This record gives sequence, structure tokens and C-alpha cells, in this order.
Amino acid sequence: MPLIYPWRTAYGADYDIHSVLVKATSGDHHSWAESTPLQMPAYSPESAAGVYLNVSEFFAPQIVGKEFDTAADVTAALAIFKGNPFAKAALEIAWWTLESKTHNRPLHELLGGTAREVQAGADFGIQDSFDMLLGNIQTAVDAGFPRVKLKVARNWDVEMLRAVRSTFPNEKFHIDCNSGYSLDDLDMFKEIDKFNLEFIEQPLANDDILDHAELARTINTPICLDESVTSPRVVEQALKIGACEYVNIKPGRVGGLTNSIRIHDICQNAGVPVWVGGMLESAVGSAVCVELATLPNFTYPGDLFPSSRFYTRDMGQPEVTLTANQTILPYKNGLPEPDLELLEKFTQQRTLVTPAS
Ligand code: MG
Repeated sequence: MPLIYPWRTAYGADYDIHSVLVKATSGDHHSWAESTPLQMPAYSPESAAGVYLNVSEFFAPQIVGKEFDTAADVTAALAIFKGNPFAKAALEIAWWTLESKTHNRPLHELLGGTAREVQAGADFGIQDSFDMLLGNIQTAVDAGFPRVKLKVARNWDVEMLRAVRSTFPNEKFHIDCNSGYSLDDLDMFKEIDKFNLEFIEQPLANDDILDHAELARTINTPICLDESVTSPRVVEQALKIGACEYVNIKPGRVGGLTNSIRIHDICQNAGVPVWVGGMLESAVGSAVCVELATLPNFTYPGDLFPSSRFYTRDMGQPEVTLTANQTILPYKNGLPEPDLELLEKFTQQRTLVTPAS
């Protein structure tokens, strides 16, 4: 699905969103799930083509035609496969959406959430100029967004923050480094300490929590982990060694909703706030993030966007919209599903997986 404008981060630019959509059927019911690892393995080790291959060739044949009483059973059935959380999530989330549809119960209720509105935050990728960024932040502040997230990269970090802080001395900001730095950049992180940020999101390598723990001991700004959080076990270990004070949860990155709930609970018990992230999914995937974020420990505003922010027309319908208070209402009467005409237009490849005979 083409983006209205490119999404620029420390790992590069995306011009389209590459999703793997799963349509699951059971009896007369069907439901959809979406996994969006991005086209290239630059955010995480997974790519859209890799997820597609793993789901269609290996993971779905392990699931199709069998009964699963819980989503945890789906996760357990896929546990023989190492890693690949986005691919596992495509199927695990399909279990939840199918359960929701079959029993006519809102997904947030099944997940243990409530019907509360979910607060969205503002989020800006790397822009063409400081002026453009400052203008966009002003618009977000005027619209009442409770916090602003800024993507950073080399040559778009300390000076950018200095410009932002001098213009907006009192607003809540956090930055997202997308794994773009190392402990060699300690001087820069100490400089960033002066800007009174809520936290620094994923400053160091995606596959490292020891260095994050060392950074946490060295600077005052709290650390939030995103890319590093690929399972509940990683979170337990990260909290044990003091690697972070906030955790970002993306259902795809952690292998689905069962693991998302587990991570939410681990953090809640440790007094660590969580917040939901997105992968620029269509409304099909975004809605699932909204439902998840109704759980009580999602207290920091999420990276949840109205469809119109990135897409001329969202493939998922109905589109995601924000209320006047920059919140999103939970889905009481069913989740968005793909518009079949747009789905047809954007589809590059499809596979039908049937029960083994
Ligand atoms: Mg992030």
C-alpha cells in the first residue's frame, strides 16, 4: 500500500507498506489478520517476503485443520520454529479475530481490556528541515496531542532537539533512535540528558540488552525498549538487569497478542508502563493495536494514526479516525477488514493453505 510520503527513520526510508494478510476460516466464519514487518529486514530481522514464505510454507500448515482452544495453544504449536515473531503473529492474531467474530464478542473484551478510549500520540519521522518539523509539532500541539515522538538519526539528533526544546520548552517529547547508536555515542546521550525527554526509545542495537543496561546506569533519561523486545522472556531479562523503564509493545514484533498480554502483565507487576506501537499497518492491523491498548497498563500514549495520515485510501475499512481529543474508540461492533477491490489491486502473491489430507 503506497504511503502519501516516505517514512524516514535511522534505518532508511519506506515508500510503501508491505503487509502479509491472513484470512482464516472456521465453519461459516472468516476473519483477517495483518502482519507488517516492512519490506526490508531493516527494522527487525524479518522482511515481508520472509514472513510470507514462512507463513505459507511452514507455519500455516502446522495450524490449518486443527482445533485450538486458546491462542496460547497456537503459539505453543509454532514454538518449534525459532524466532520469526512477525510470521507467528500473522497466524496467532488470526485466531483472536476469528474467536471474536465466531462468538460475536469485541476483541478488547477477549484480550482482557475495557471499552475505554485509547490515547494517540503524535509521531514525526525525519523531515526535510527543522522549520518543517517545528511547524508540524506546532500543529500537533494545537490539536491537543499529549506527547510528541521524534525520530532521530545521525545529523538529526542534538541540534534538532535543541531547536525543538527552545521552541517548545514545556511539551512532552521522547525520541526514537531505532537502534542507530552505540555506547561509543555516550557523549551525545549525555548531551541529550539536558532536554528533559520522557525517555529515549531503542537507542542501541536491536539484539542487545546488556549495553542498554549500561547506558541506563550512565544517563538520567529513562530508556524504553522497542526492537529488542521480541518475547516475554526478553522483557523479564531486561527488567532484571535494569535495561529499561518503559516498554513498547507491537503485537507483530512479539509474536502476537498472547505474548503482548504476557509482556503487559510482566511490566505491570514490575511497575513499568507500556505503550502500543504500530508498523504503519492498514486499519486491519491498527485496529488490533487499538484493542490491545485498552488493557490497563497501557498508560503512555500510543503510536496510533488515523488512516488519512499515511494513506489516500486505507485498504482496511472502515478507516481509523481520531476523536477531537486525539483518542481512538475501541471496536465494539466488529473489526475493520480489507476492502476487496483495493486488496485485489495491491496483492502481489497469494497462497491457499488447506488441511493436510
Ligand atoms: Mg520504535
